[in-house]
Amino acid sequence: DQCQQLTQNKELCNISITVKTTNSNHQKKVIPIIQTWFSQLASQVYFITDREDRTISRLTHNHLIDTKCGSNHYRESLSCKLEEELRHFGRNPSNWYCHFDDDNYLNVNRLFDVLKNYDFRNDWYIGKKSINHKLSAIYKNKVHYFSFATGGAGFCLSKSLFNKISTYIEDFVNISNSIGLPDDCSLGFIIESLIGVNLTEIHDFHSHLEYLGSFNSNNLKNQVSLSYKFETNNFVNISAFKNSDEDPTKFKAIHCNLYSKQSICLN
Ligand code: UDP
Repeated sequence: DQCQQLTQNKELCNISITVKTTNSNHQKKVIPIIQTWFSQLASQVYFITDREDRTISRLTHNHLIDTKCGSNHYRESLSCKLEEELRHFGRNPSNWYCHFDDDNYLNVNRLFDVLKNYDFRNDWYIGKKSINHKLSAIYKNKVHYFSFATGGAGFCLSKSLFNKISTYIEDFVNISNSIGLPDDCSLGFIIESLIGVNLTEIHDFHSHLEYLGSFNSNNLKNQVSLSYKFETNNFVNISAFKNSDEDPTKFKAIHCNLYSKQSICLN
């Protein structure tokens, strides 16, 4: 298993990772992941999408899961996908469960460095906030205040916490509809307000809501996740690998800066 080349700590390789995507992103966003960090954790990573795709299925050794969720940016479609990610975790018992978006570069070594500080036998909800105040939701006539880990930066759940979430999975979309909040907020609500576990914030997870230009070859290795956004020209400050057409997301440049011995970096 490739994972064991990354860490001596076998418990960390017992991890299940899902990446939320959509059909129209398969070529431009999923392929750069397959070419970079997916290759380091190929047995543990699955893509959750909304359309079959033979090319992606072949490239991932059938790690593409087609759902009946809508292929749009509406709350219900995105909550449907997070519900499917949680169901996938339920079918694949692991010490850790992590979600990422399809515009996330995951620095696997740094993720392991972070997770090794926490015991998966206890309840841990690990990620990064995107807003500083708590959200409020009315649920069953009661007001709740809670924080949430922003889905666009990725987050992780320990096995012990996931076992407590299990009873809410089939109801996830209903809960999200009932409080009227997006998928990542709804998960934060379930964990903080219904289960009573607080988010442990790790600042080294990053979404495209942050300015990414301050990350460069000197500080990449300390980041757990990175991202990009074409529309706002928000990218890590690193020169593209070869020419920019070949590396529009900069994932190859990031990957080769961190892991220079990988095969795509050698030619
Ligand atoms: N996404 C999706 N369906 C869509 C648009 C986006 O499933 O119609 C997924 C996308 O693949 C990504 C996540 O939702 O993993 C967030 O999408 P995006 O970065 O476009 O949105 P933002 O984070 O800006 O809300």
